[in-house]
Amino acid sequence: MISGCTIQNKDADLLVYNGRIYTVDSSGQVADAMAVKNGKVLATGTASALFREYDFKDTLDLKGGFVFPGFIDAHCHFFGYALSLQYIDLKGSSSFDEVLLRLEQAGNPKPGSWIVGRGWDQNIWPVKVFPDNQRLNQLFPENPVLLIRIDGHVVLANEAALKAEGMERFSTFQPGEVLMKNGKPTGILSENAADRIRDMVPVPRGDQLAALLRQAESNCLNAGLTGVSDAGLDYDRVMLIDYLQKKGVLKIFVNAWLTPNPVNLEKFVAKGPYLTECLSVRSIKIYADGSLGSRTARLKRPYSDDPSTSGVIVTSPDSVLKLCRLAYDHGYQINTHCIGDSAVAMILDLYSRFLKGRNDLRWRIEHAQIVDPRDFHLFEEYSIIPSIQGTHATSDMKWAERRVGSLRMEGAYAYRTLLAQNGWIANGTDFPIEHIDPVMTFYATVSRKDREGNPEKGFYPEEGLSRTDALRSMTIWAAKAGFSEKVKGSLETGKDADFLILDRDLMEVSERDIPETRIVGTFIHGQRVK
Ligand SMILES: [Zn+2]
Repeated sequence: MISGCTIQNKDADLLVYNGRIYTVDSSGQVADAMAVKNGKVLATGTASALFREYDFKDTLDLKGGFVFPGFIDAHCHFFGYALSLQYIDLKGSSSFDEVLLRLEQAGNPKPGSWIVGRGWDQNIWPVKVFPDNQRLNQLFPENPVLLIRIDGHVVLANEAALKAEGMERFSTFQPGEVLMKNGKPTGILSENAADRIRDMVPVPRGDQLAALLRQAESNCLNAGLTGVSDAGLDYDRVMLIDYLQKKGVLKIFVNAWLTPNPVNLEKFVAKGPYLTECLSVRSIKIYADGSLGSRTARLKRPYSDDPSTSGVIVTSPDSVLKLCRLAYDHGYQINTHCIGDSAVAMILDLYSRFLKGRNDLRWRIEHAQIVDPRDFHLFEEYSIIPSIQGTHATSDMKWAERRVGSLRMEGAYAYRTLLAQNGWIANGTDFPIEHIDPVMTFYATVSRKDREGNPEKGFYPEEGLSRTDALRSMTIWAAKAGFSEKVKGSLETGKDADFLILDRDLMEVSERDIPETRIVGTFIHGQRVK
């Protein structure tokens, strides 16, 4: 019934007003108010216009604060990060002695129980070589010890851990995956050999595991992440996330990529994408090579600081082609880890056989750290999407050039050149390799400097992104790289009201002050979660 002549205002849940709201829509609109209803953005505009049109149940005065769409990490390891919260933190250890000290400080382990640490990096030690396990064997004869390098591609295992796996099995791995000295394993394992021993570590179950995932989520929400892409999960882990989301235990949006194992291929890929409001399963993760820090990234020519190696290919071209076929036939995206220029070239070529030309399948190359300048154009020709990690440039800048030499630096961490290929790019952290903090991703992407402001002019500063592009790479383009741009990544009518309140304006604050930015509030579907 129409009620006489009075104009009936429409109901809405929440008005956010009196601030600067960066909508990140295609025109770059900045609004001063936003209306929310049923977890969606209803409208953006001026507060007075929205007040005229709607009756609000609730209002939120920003008091001059700054609203941005929730950040989306386009490539990280959410589940792995949750597990790592229980490991001994070895990040920043300045020597192997300090690693051992931290293990001892962690207290006496129960007899036979695993000791797991994560985050050592020989590149920041005085002697920049891989350690061996001799002292671990002496200190922990009864406990299997596994120490995961910062990049996750290399581990140091003591003898008890190697025995738990069965030492003889290691003869089946590629040379380079098991580092030997005088005919004996040193305990340094990389890639597939490292994965094999990591699989031996008992994983917490039930409530304990759920608690770790909740802690990981809480850390992400506090840091301003409302969405994460988990770069490689098995079936059970995806289903656990789905279960916890459906029970309301987890609220963060998860784009779960599948490890290409038979169970995943049968239960997910063969049936097409699996999509819920909080979960997207439509991508397969492949590793083409290893990492630069460990000299397992595959280069076209040998390493400049070790001519005996060019790195390794960890998934054969034949296997990659089979997975591409499966993905292509079942509507799945392929996201392949490529660090070295040879791995990048190999995957560009293999993708091109399916993609044939311009397309909207959004097959991705993760990291694309070292690219042969002659290969950049292939990203554009086949609409292959580069996925970068802003902080990798500033974490690796002290030693990357030693690995590849000055000539190859021309195509290294070349984010602006990569962006130019398709006009958009995805950005993330690869946490727990890097810290989860998206503000630091933004800072490193635009400044190409570390937290202390070094180097003064930035590391190859011409390859940094503008603030507008950096913001897009962490919001709308990160969403697009996971096919969720219709509901996530910007604050536009009809999209999910996932947003942040910041204490300063990322787009205007001085570069030096970007890292000081604090997340004052995080909202998912219009509900405050921090
Ligand atoms: Zn990764």
